[in-house]
Amino acid sequence: MKVAVIGGGGREHTLAWKLAQSPSVDKLYAIPGSAAMSEVAQCVDIALSDLDAITDYAQKEGIDMLVVGPEVPLTEGLADLAQSKGLAVFGPNKAAAQMEGSKVFAKNLMKKYHVPTAAYASFTDGDAAKAYIKEQGAPIVVKADGLAAGKGVVVAQTEAEAIEAVNAMMEDHIFGASGGRIVIEECMVGEEASLLAFVDGKTIVPMISAQDHKRIFDNDEGPNTGGMGAYAPAPVVTPEIRKEVEEKILKPVVDGLKQEGITYQGCLYAGLMITADGPKVVEFNCRFGDPETQAVLPLLDGDLAQIMYACAKGTLTADMVHWKDAAACCVIMASAGYPASSHKGDVISGLDAVDKEDVMVFHSGTAKKDDQYVTNGGRVLGVTAVAPDLKSAIEKAYDNVKRIHFDGQQVRSDIGAKGLKHLK
Ligand code: ATP
Repeated sequence: MKVAVIGGGGREHTLAWKLAQSPSVDKLYAIPGSAAMSEVAQCVDIALSDLDAITDYAQKEGIDMLVVGPEVPLTEGLADLAQSKGLAVFGPNKAAAQMEGSKVFAKNLMKKYHVPTAAYASFTDGDAAKAYIKEQGAPIVVKADGLAAGKGVVVAQTEAEAIEAVNAMMEDHIFGASGGRIVIEECMVGEEASLLAFVDGKTIVPMISAQDHKRIFDNDEGPNTGGMGAYAPAPVVTPEIRKEVEEKILKPVVDGLKQEGITYQGCLYAGLMITADGPKVVEFNCRFGDPETQAVLPLLDGDLAQIMYACAKGTLTADMVHWKDAAACCVIMASAGYPASSHKGDVISGLDAVDKEDVMVFHSGTAKKDDQYVTNGGRVLGVTAVAPDLKSAIEKAYDNVKRIHFDGQQVRSDIGAKGLKHLK
């Protein structure tokens, strides 16, 4: 079949890399793709915001399936439009994508179907929100309802900080319409982990668990980023916790949506807090995580395109999905100034020196200039290593990171360390 990956970041590079290995894929496209993705796919320069042009192109080329990487086109209805033109899509429709696109929608659904998550209230009135903060006290979490590129959440340690966040979102409109409605929720305590699942509308097949590292500096210090590294599987998600997440979180959500008349197809990403009372939902995403994808997909044994097509067609079965008995660690190399800014045009050297086996370099933000890769974004590369166990995967990833260089590079030195603590 002909498959098009929509997007051009590290997650999409990983999706394209894995899809290119699928025996069922005859031709792979990437819209818009990237310089690195052009090594495995034909890149087509169409803007992600031009849903009509994307779906028209897919129709014209006889593309069988779109695999949508980022959340924005999904929340804007790319899947609905593609389906109306007879294209199969891996990625939820607009109604289902509200699980990520509206935190109020997701929280209300979780409440209705008794899915464990932080206690909350939602507000469209700033004064009412502030009164609630005073009543509840700190620490407390303030979230913009809509998409805010991962920046719409403030974990406030004091009431003043929480009130400042309400003002910024509701009065100064720093996130535009996304902050017109806010959720204020209980601050949960525990270790975070993610469990992504393939979903075909009714059947849910969870992937292996993963753990992201959101802060820029070691020991989870400094400002939040898009993610500085990930590893899989995450030992904090024990078999018992995994079962609980499947039964108490993923299934009630997919079934609950169905009862609301909404079919969820694609990847459902559960961001979890493993609390003393068991796993609770921090957030849902309606697509693969970045950089979790870079750690999870290298461990998938099987034909990703077939799994995705089954999700799109409602024919997914658990026996399509198998995992290698191994571990993966992805270390992100970010550019100078990230996350506040990014530095473009720095020459990347050493890519040729990387191991050819069990090490993959996924490009998040690079461009090609005079036949050389240069930095072109905040997160630049994700270096993933696969090994029989987590310790060796971490060592191998860092050994290969050392061979790559660009000016101002920022790398955390403790990706996977939390996982090792659990194994001790
Ligand atoms: P992204 O899209 O980048 O994953 P987001 O903007 O959707 O992020 P969340 O994932 O909901 O935001 O929250 C960001 C981070 O804030 C979480 O990873 C977690 O560390 C923290 N957080 C969110 N909600 C809570 C909560 N209720 N209790 C404690 N920490 C929380």
